[in-house]
Amino acid sequence: MAKKIAVDPLMDKLVSLCKRRGFVFQSSVIYGGLGSCWDYGPLGVELKNNVKRFWWEAMTHRRDDIEGLDAAILMSPQVWVTSGHVEGFTDPLVDCKKCKMRFRADTLESKVCPNCGGELSEPRMFNLMFKTNIGPVDDGSGLIYLRPETAQGIYVNYRNVRDTARKKVPFGIAQVGKAFRNEIVTKNFIFRTCEFEQMEMQYFVKPGDDEKFFNYWREQRWAYYAKLGVRMDKLRWHQHGPDELAHYAKDAYDIEYEFPMGFKELEGVHNRTNFDLTRHQQYSGKDLQYIDQDNGNERYIPFIIETSAGLTRQLLMVLCDAYEDQKVADKGTDDDWRTVLHFHPTLAPITVAVLPLMKKDGLAELAQDIRQGLKEEFATDYDQGGAIGRRYRRQDEVGTPFCVTVDYQTKEDDTVTVRFRDSMEQVRVPIAGLVETLQERFAGRV
Ligand code: ATP
Repeated sequence: MAKKIAVDPLMDKLVSLCKRRGFVFQSSVIYGGLGSCWDYGPLGVELKNNVKRFWWEAMTHRRDDIEGLDAAILMSPQVWVTSGHVEGFTDPLVDCKKCKMRFRADTLESKVCPNCGGELSEPRMFNLMFKTNIGPVDDGSGLIYLRPETAQGIYVNYRNVRDTARKKVPFGIAQVGKAFRNEIVTKNFIFRTCEFEQMEMQYFVKPGDDEKFFNYWREQRWAYYAKLGVRMDKLRWHQHGPDELAHYAKDAYDIEYEFPMGFKELEGVHNRTNFDLTRHQQYSGKDLQYIDQDNGNERYIPFIIETSAGLTRQLLMVLCDAYEDQKVADKGTDDDWRTVLHFHPTLAPITVAVLPLMKKDGLAELAQDIRQGLKEEFATDYDQGGAIGRRYRRQDEVGTPFCVTVDYQTKEDDTVTVRFRDSMEQVRVPIAGLVETLQERFAGRV
């Protein structure tokens, strides 16, 4: 086992840990699974909610100039005509004539099938949007799409939010939600999936101020990752070259993270010009101009600076970044190693685990009482099964930053042991001061 830890690639280890401990399961697994779709289990949904909350607080609660939104996934099909997705949201696909497998032509390194060496077809353009039908008649008249990005929900609500929240340019609208793309290349676990979540913020600025705010948002988004506690030497910027830049974009940078399969896009920061609102104004016939009352009622269509991050992709980054197989002893046994997820405490699915040393002699009941007292403040867990060392390891493996152990001394002097995940340090603390001690440590790491 100790040897296996050293040789298994990180992604394989993560996939297996996520399944074993209830972070991520393959979708519909009792029916053989549905490729590239994943379900988030008890710990996964907590981690995902925590990442989402971290982003939401940074992008809305801590700011005066950004409002939140939750637009519907299903939208008027005209939206996707206007946005250009119906016509242009395509990947070039090739089919293998022999084994019938399908690949994205732009990701292939050779001209033959990477699976069987067979001959490949000419590339065909394939639209990535999922189609469905609204209404009772299935004759094509009710054709609608599952949104492939959350951004359009923001653009079509730009005027609603501006007017109801009485915002002045510059201001932003933030949204977290599901997006769907019929992706062909979906390997690498939850990195690229057909159903995923995005965390997008569209910032509306005066034309001419766009470059200033583009640089500002690049700085803000970089600082966000530092606060999230990930290893900053694993992040880098990638500027879109002329061949990558969308036709409407003036400038675009991706923040890339070094995943086990190499540096890959995590988030895009884009200067989208006034393309989106100009198109929506043109196709909807609604006036989307901004009237700048502070500047002689000057009228303009705002430019948009977009920060577009994948929630599920950020989750994968957080998992990769936190994972460590750590050697903690040298006895030549399996117990020499522990697997630990060094999550930022605000992201950890469980913040505090309460563990009675023994089930008997009233220790279990005492531990349950202590847990009850912590529930208001923290996400807690309770575990009474197995040797205490094993239980610490189980918590390390899911990234629980604090364990509280209740033992015989607790019955005598109302103190407990607090054990810290990263340092494995243990301190004795009175129960009366437990919440404060944990809060201090929690804040200290933040
Ligand atoms: P790619 O070139 O990797 O297909 P993209 O440039 O099309 O991605 P955007 O449209 O800019 O991606 O989407 C913004 C963010 O949404 C990406 O940075 C990524 O984090 C996330 N994202 C996009 N597609 C997927 C997907 N299929 N699965 C998971 N996350 C995704």
